[in-house]
Amino acid sequence: MTDTKAAAAASRAAAPIDLDALRAKYRQERDRRMRGDGIRQFVELVGDYRGYIEDPDANDAEPRAPLDDDVSVLIVGGGWSGMVAAVRLMQSGVSDLRLIDNGRDFGGTWYWNRYPGVQCDIESYIYMPLLEETDYVPREKYAFGDEIRTHAERVGRKFGLYERTLFETQLQALTWDEDLSRWRVRTNRGDSFTTRHVVMACGSLNRPKLPGIPGILDFKGTSFHTSRWDYEYSGGDTTGNLHKLADKRIALIGTGASGIQVAPLIAESCEHLYVVQRTPVAVAPRGNRPTDPDWVRSLQPGWQEERRSNFQKLVSGVPQPEDLVDDAWTEIMKILGAIAFRVAQEGEKTQAERDLEMELADAERMETLRRRVEDQVKDPAVAETLKPWYRFFCKRPTFNDRYLPMFNRPNVSLLDTGGQGVERITADGLVIGGKEYPVDCIIFATGFEVGTEYTRRAEIEIFGRGGLSLADHWAEDYQTLHGVTAHGFPNLFFMGPAQGPGDVNFLYPADLQARYVARILARALGEGAEVVEPTEEAVQAYVAHFREVALDNIEFYRECTPSYYNNEGDPSKYKGFLSQRYGGGFAQYRKMVLDWLDEGMPGLAFTTRE
Ligand code: NDP
Repeated sequence: MTDTKAAAAASRAAAPIDLDALRAKYRQERDRRMRGDGIRQFVELVGDYRGYIEDPDANDAEPRAPLDDDVSVLIVGGGWSGMVAAVRLMQSGVSDLRLIDNGRDFGGTWYWNRYPGVQCDIESYIYMPLLEETDYVPREKYAFGDEIRTHAERVGRKFGLYERTLFETQLQALTWDEDLSRWRVRTNRGDSFTTRHVVMACGSLNRPKLPGIPGILDFKGTSFHTSRWDYEYSGGDTTGNLHKLADKRIALIGTGASGIQVAPLIAESCEHLYVVQRTPVAVAPRGNRPTDPDWVRSLQPGWQEERRSNFQKLVSGVPQPEDLVDDAWTEIMKILGAIAFRVAQEGEKTQAERDLEMELADAERMETLRRRVEDQVKDPAVAETLKPWYRFFCKRPTFNDRYLPMFNRPNVSLLDTGGQGVERITADGLVIGGKEYPVDCIIFATGFEVGTEYTRRAEIEIFGRGGLSLADHWAEDYQTLHGVTAHGFPNLFFMGPAQGPGDVNFLYPADLQARYVARILARALGEGAEVVEPTEEAVQAYVAHFREVALDNIEFYRECTPSYYNNEGDPSKYKGFLSQRYGGGFAQYRKMVLDWLDEGMPGLAFTTRE
């Protein structure tokens, strides 16, 4: 940086924050994005839209005879939750299990999201599960999708999961058979088998969605969703070199975590890239680096759990003597989380004082990120349009070092929609602000369904005791014990989707839930119990507790620009991504369920038929 630039940066940094003006600006930006249809603005990928959800790599599935046998445990989903559940079950002595997945291999999220540049924002050493068990250390601090998928395959081989898995198979229905005390399973491959227990591990951001822009189906060019990347069309691979795009004009709709990762790689290869922005996203530095071999040599057994736990505590605002991960997540959470934690512990400040302190820390953080845009984007008008105007946790934070400088390329245009989104899609392109932009390809980086019914997202019908439909049972709100079991649905266990623990690192709570389910099933199979089911009272007590400890963040999210975090601008106690996480925090949830397991699982009935 030159002296003048440094002096300018310092004076900008020192400028006091006018909170009233900032609040007014945030509100103005939110208001221009508010719309009446909330999550209904998105299109469910069925019927004519089905092509957007199909696997671009699928050939005709290899023929196999339909199954009509019986297994002890069926795990639905071959992503990380399902795989970790399988491993924890096997380690607990439950090995008669089968996995089922509609992909062609393991990986779940990482199987489907193979777009160029796909990378995990959580440090690889804490995100990628079972590293010590497989004697593997990731190559970089933040792993790209390929490495994560390869690791899933490694875990699959190491733990004998391949021979237990039905790939390219979509579970269609689960029906509880009272006489057999088993679930009847039906799939799209003609299977009709039974299983004693089912573990649902379908993920939480599993079902892609499109915005309901008029005319999507009229477009005559190529179009796909980032989670179904078409390499036949683009050429290249996840590292880029998308050589078939050299003479193509591409429109990328969406600038969330996926959009900003893929955009720079498209820009490098295509004739012209239009980045279609509805809401500018806050982009923090990535700072990836190769794994240090000396550090790897220094690792002691138990290192991964220690590192995961250290990260989890820091991002919950629990001070730690050391910050092992030491990245953008812990940096911000040490500030914001520590304010919350300190006050909560000592009661030294009023709620209003604490809120103000948080707001100021948040404002400083966002100001830094807005300055980052100015520093990286040469055209001041483009930089201004790329600045995010909302509080840090209104949207899922993103991290990238290539996205902002990409706007300095001559073949990249930012098409800002003034918060309104694309007006219309035509046979030849898209219309924004009354102007048509002809393109050859439209790529939707528009995210995944959140807030719709669980069974819709999993594309499964589930009928419990007396034919009770799970969709009906959960129509108003989830009804679970610890987010894992449901009364009326015996021998059914959920990894997610709701009322369980949340964490920045999704897979840390998933491992806890996997161990929890493994403890229950090891006991059930050990005791010969045929039915495991929470009592109605236990569920009601847990739901009441869940609501009591729920974070009171509705007001915060009401002030936010719409996103899946706040149910697209309509936050309520029960809707939206974050309100379905246990409000007492991960540590409290963990202690509660571990104590409960040790106390003999009160409220969970284990029944053996005479
Ligand atoms: P998001 O839901 O985060 O982003 C969707 C984008 O599409 C937003 O920019 C949204 O704008 C835009 N959009 C929606 N409708 C329209 C419209 N009508 N016109 C124009 N733009 C529109 O989806 P992502 O796939 O980016 O990310 C989903 C989640 O997946 C992440 O939040 C993260 O949890 C996870 N993820 C994690 C990654 C990682 O670890 N690196 C990578 C990718 C995803 P608006 O903001 O205005 O709604």
